[in-house]
Amino acid sequence: MTRFDAPPRPVAALVVAAGKGVRAGRGLPKQYRVLGDRAVIRRTVERFFDCPGITHLRVVFNDEHQSLYDRALDELFSDPRLLPPVSGGTARQDSVRLGLESLREVDPEIVLIHDAVRPFVTPGLIADVIDAASKPNAAGAIPALPVVDTLKRGNGGRIDKTVDRTDLWRAQTPQAFRYQGILAAHLAAKGQALTDDAAVAELAGLAVAIIAGDPDNIKFTTREDFDAAGPAPSRGADSGLQSEIRVGAGFDVHRFSPGDHVVLCGVTIPHDQGLAGHSDADAGLHALTDALLGAMGLGDIGDHFPPDDERWRDARSDVFLKHAHDLVTHAGGTILNLDLTLICERPRIKPYRGAMRARVADILELDSSRVSVKATTTEKLGFAGRGEGIAAQAIASVRVKSGSA
Ligand code: MG
Repeated sequence: MTRFDAPPRPVAALVVAAGKGVRAGRGLPKQYRVLGDRAVIRRTVERFFDCPGITHLRVVFNDEHQSLYDRALDELFSDPRLLPPVSGGTARQDSVRLGLESLREVDPEIVLIHDAVRPFVTPGLIADVIDAASKPNAAGAIPALPVVDTLKRGNGGRIDKTVDRTDLWRAQTPQAFRYQGILAAHLAAKGQALTDDAAVAELAGLAVAIIAGDPDNIKFTTREDFDAAGPAPSRGADSGLQSEIRVGAGFDVHRFSPGDHVVLCGVTIPHDQGLAGHSDADAGLHALTDALLGAMGLGDIGDHFPPDDERWRDARSDVFLKHAHDLVTHAGGTILNLDLTLICERPRIKPYRGAMRARVADILELDSSRVSVKATTTEKLGFAGRGEGIAAQAIASVRVKSGSA
């Protein structure tokens, strides 16, 4: 040791979040799903920031998720350790390689590669893998758990043989490596399909150590993982994982006026009249917006977009619905489903229902199975029956953290 040791070189974390998987995420990519009061990816990033060894962190994302990323992490943007995200590739391995290449300017001593959907990683485990990968003869280190279940090799529903589980491990992340070594290994392994970064290192002949993993460091893969995390506060290590369901109703009417089309749920329908209104008069989206605002107790569409405000003249109503969606998300809510009924004699709605569902689902970043659009007439009774206008009524359900305002 000299008195003039060089300052320690950087230790960077790559959080891999480029997956599109919505199977577990109730319509959202699972890394952006809210768990308790925060998005999964935010919980993950915060665990790394709680580890003093980490000097840089970069998320590898899918750039189609830019707005989800911004919403999930905006409160961390002021942290100088958080580098701007980079776009990943089609396979995880491509995403990691692109992330590693993006760290060339940082040139860390050690890089940790972690799945965004493992939010319960502890700062202690992160420090342990950094230590193990920093040992003089190590090229890397991974946390792993011994296999405790008996393993069977099966074929066509029948056991072929029982596999010896001695020396078998279940690999977790974060996996830590000397940066230059794993970068070269990934560049060399381009085009080969390997399931984790330790396999990439192995192919390059790098010595990778195994350290004790953590049973709570689970990877969120299925919807059941999210459901299981709800009532298990020990995993979250903080409160707020209990949730409740809220519902809201919305109703809107617009009068017919001279014109040649109407816009309902963002879909243009040719018609021999138009609809009168300050904005595009999309009664469907207005009712849905009010239903979401109602579920959150946040007033109505007129409070947020006053009709006398010139900014909203002829505005497209997806702006209103997106705003309501942002308010729900900021409050830690997740939209569960929406049901809309359009009430008119003409135009015929049925041919456009599929397009309407798809458009609403797209605006709200939901799976279209969570959006319902129905239509009815009023048997020629009342204003709708006389063809004076169109009415829309909607209901929305939202999951929010228990006790949230
Ligand atoms: Mg309206």
